[in-house]
Amino acid sequence: MEIITSVEEMSEWSRECALNLKSLGLVPTMGYLHEGHLSLVRKAISENDRVVASIFVNPTQFGRNEDFGVYPRDPGGDCAKLEASGVDALFTPDAETMYGAGYETFVEVQHLSLPLCGQTRPDHFRGVATVVLKLFNIIEPTRAYFGCKDYQQLQVIKKMVRDLNVRTEVIGCPTVREPDGLAMSSRNSYLSPSQRKRAVCLYEGLRKAQALFMTHETDVEKYIRVIAETISIESGTNPEYIRLVDPDTLRDLSAVHGPALAILAVRIGQTRLIDNALMS
Ligand code: AMP
Repeated sequence: MEIITSVEEMSEWSRECALNLKSLGLVPTMGYLHEGHLSLVRKAISENDRVVASIFVNPTQFGRNEDFGVYPRDPGGDCAKLEASGVDALFTPDAETMYGAGYETFVEVQHLSLPLCGQTRPDHFRGVATVVLKLFNIIEPTRAYFGCKDYQQLQVIKKMVRDLNVRTEVIGCPTVREPDGLAMSSRNSYLSPSQRKRAVCLYEGLRKAQALFMTHETDVEKYIRVIAETISIESGTNPEYIRLVDPDTLRDLSAVHGPALAILAVRIGQTRLIDNALMS
């Protein structure tokens, strides 16, 4: 596996792929890799001739009081996992390389960035869209792989690609969970053992919503109530939002008469966790 830190070298490596008519898959990450990330890597390897993973803890997607400074990092472990998975190149630029002095250009997907996580993280998706477009421009991948765990992020990126005529196919991949159902996340490492046990309530709430969906329940409030009650059974859990939305527009549903996305963000102590379930 080649480890590349400069934009010029990365572009050169990608151009070589294109000249040899090799399809190229990209898996963008912030590192501290777990099975969720590696499932994206495996899918990318199965669908492309060459695969690049990127690791970049992107400062522009963190708010001022968020966890950028303490975000978990394990460069050695990450390299070993990517190498063992069969990734061809790792792009791992530093912040100066991505946002040099005088940097001033940002991409905004206006409406999709506003609800849900956008309410408490106003600049988050602007940072995500910007760094992803930069990665797409540097690497020019045939396909790029993102997890449905970050559902709003996936929708924002798909919209950006459509609106800006980017020639990369964006592929959403299923959420990988721990054996008890908690969605895997680098941020799970912040949880104490007792918080970790309680964190399964996010998944349990979503499962109850799914069970309600199977009964053809149409009342949105019932879904939200069952999720909220499941989460509030555990102490120290503080929901930031619990919503039932249209899976494409992310607008609140007034009644359930077709596909619905249950989506939530919950604080457990200082740790903010997100999860969702698509019901169709
Ligand atoms: P992150 O390193 O958290 O920015 O995540 C990098 C990519 O991995 C994003 O596309 C995430 O949606 C995806 N991802 C993170 N956790 C999971 C998971 N549990 N299952 C599937 N994909 C995931």
